[in-house]
Amino acid sequence: MYGCLSVSGALRVILVPLTSHNVLDFIDNLSIRVKEVLSSAGVDAEVITWPDVIKPTMRCFNWERVQYHAACVIENIRSVFQVIGLVGKYYIVGVGYLDGFEHGLNFVFGEADPKDMIAVVFTKRLKPEFYGERADYNLYFERLLKEVVHELGHLLGLEHCVSEKCVMRFSNSIIEVDEKDPLFCNQCKSTLRDKVTPARSRGSSSL
Ligand SMILES: [Zn+2]
Ligand SMILES: [Zn+2]
Repeated sequence: MYGCLSVSGALRVILVPLTSHNVLDFIDNLSIRVKEVLSSAGVDAEVITWPDVIKPTMRCFNWERVQYHAACVIENIRSVFQVIGLVGKYYIVGVGYLDGFEHGLNFVFGEADPKDMIAVVFTKRLKPEFYGERADYNLYFERLLKEVVHELGHLLGLEHCVSEKCVMRFSNSIIEVDEKDPLFCNQCKSTLRDKVTPARSRGSSSL
């Protein structure tokens, strides 16, 4: 049943909805845009939307903070995809209209575990309404795209970047998310290609 997911040569990415609300409406467009961003960096990827919503277990929910623990949510995604044998074969990014935290931080927009190739993006703080502003579909979507590409960048081996507009710049606030582009800077593109492209298949294709 999963054979159809495989495309040889291309990087394989699965976007997993962790909530239906504020995610399902966006996720197909998101997979198209993520593929485009990777393609613009010279990385051929197949980006699949997982057909089921995989809600994180309530064991990951901290009732005092009213937030989900990011590492716990990643572990939860890992355990689900381990059963069907996809861990380590696909880059898996969970996307949920949830609020997430990590120890020592008030909140996180996302977190990545490159070892198991799994990341999570929490979208509650990406909504303009969270800051008392008017709903804005496009703004929310652009923020969502940036955070998914950022975490995927970590999964592919990229670190934080100091380039102002680069998607790999660390964002400590929604203002900083808005300041960057959803794209990798030239340096990150080059690093990315080195990391994901086997040496033998790199050639004289760039002019
Ligand atoms: Zn980061
Ligand atoms: Zn960069």
